[in-house]
Amino acid sequence: MQTTNVDVLVIGAGPAGSIAASIINKAGYKVRIVEKEKFPRFVIGESLLPRVMDHLEEAGLLEAVKRAGFQEKFGAKFVRGDEVCDFNFKDQFSKGWNWTWQVPRGQFDKILSETAASMGVDVQHEMAVKDIKFHGTDSITTVVNKEGVEEQIGAKFIVDASGYGRVIPRMFGLDKPSNFDPRKTHFTHFKDLKRPEGIDGNRITVVVHQQRTWIWIIPFSNGITSVGFVADPQFFKDYPEDAVERMRGIINSDVHTKERFGDAEMVFEPRTIEGYAISTKQLYGDGFILCGNTTEFLDPVFSSDVTFAMESGNDLMFPGGMKVIYMKFSSLKIQTQKLKNKFVQY
Ligand SMILES: Cc1cc2nc3c(=O)[nH]c(=O)nc-3n(C[C@H](O)[C@H](O)[C@H](O)COP(=O)(O)OP(=O)(O)OC[C@H]3O[C@@H](n4cnc5c(N)ncnc54)[C@H](O)[C@@H]3O)c2cc1C
Repeated sequence: MQTTNVDVLVIGAGPAGSIAASIINKAGYKVRIVEKEKFPRFVIGESLLPRVMDHLEEAGLLEAVKRAGFQEKFGAKFVRGDEVCDFNFKDQFSKGWNWTWQVPRGQFDKILSETAASMGVDVQHEMAVKDIKFHGTDSITTVVNKEGVEEQIGAKFIVDASGYGRVIPRMFGLDKPSNFDPRKTHFTHFKDLKRPEGIDGNRITVVVHQQRTWIWIIPFSNGITSVGFVADPQFFKDYPEDAVERMRGIINSDVHTKERFGDAEMVFEPRTIEGYAISTKQLYGDGFILCGNTTEFLDPVFSSDVTFAMESGNDLMFPGGMKVIYMKFSSLKIQTQKLKNKFVQY
């Protein structure tokens, strides 16, 4: 079996993996991403926060994303019955970016991984991690491509950014039940032909449908709008089993979605995800660190998780000065403790 050696192996080319790999590469280390899917691939999580702009800039990915012409996002509108809360990023308490984007993630993540590759990161798509063996802090990872051909990758450090794949937590029994109540989501993309004129047409709207049930409406610049419901699992029992009928039923039950999306064409059959918040017993160990969704996941009501994914992808490094992956060095414990504290604060 062919064996390649790298300094750092990154699992997953989502936002966490692409940011981490770009920064590690910029620091002069040999880094390789292995990604199970061919991009563009669908993933949910389309509304960003301004903090991501800092991470994209630092990783050298910002200009490429700017060129894509994604829908700009300057804030959010929260609606409950007749009450409206306008939230504008420019009303910020600190300096920094006051806008960001709403993005179809397939396209966004493809730009990130392609730009990382153009900067020298070795990105391998359609290659899934099958097995990892640690020898101290060194590791040998067995990966398999779509033809079933296996390869081994020797690494001094692994960054697990496999998101919902949760490669290391699953493989090493680190999964832990979340403290969050189980939640379920049902979502699709609509051809948004009745998009309102002006600012309301283009900005994200979060609607409180009923207690513990909310709706996201995320317009993209391509005329498509993402709509999804997040609720306790029993909420969905009042609606048909069929995915399309279920979506129509819920859309038509809410005054804020009925007129705009009641008869709108769906771009794909609505999907359901349930129990997506899984925690982990540890965020790092000898020779590896988890970042992004691999670590846990919050209810997406404030669009925070891609930001956390990038934040954790970026914070793998020493702050300031020459950035160095902390791999096996003495400050590993200090740095990981800092990262851990950060997650506890979240
Ligand atoms: C209903 C819902 C709505 C959401 N809305 C938002 C939102 O509006 N805004 C927001 O910021 N976030 C949102 N999120 C969260 C968002 O989906 C995630 O936080 C984000 O995708 C995490 O990025 P990541 O890089 O950690 O993982 P991902 O984007 O999931 O990337 C992980 C990558 O790892 C790859 N992978 C998996 N297993 C393997 C393997 N064995 N080998 C190799 N590669 C592998 C996968 O193919 C994938 O490409 C939402 C989530 C849900 C459930």
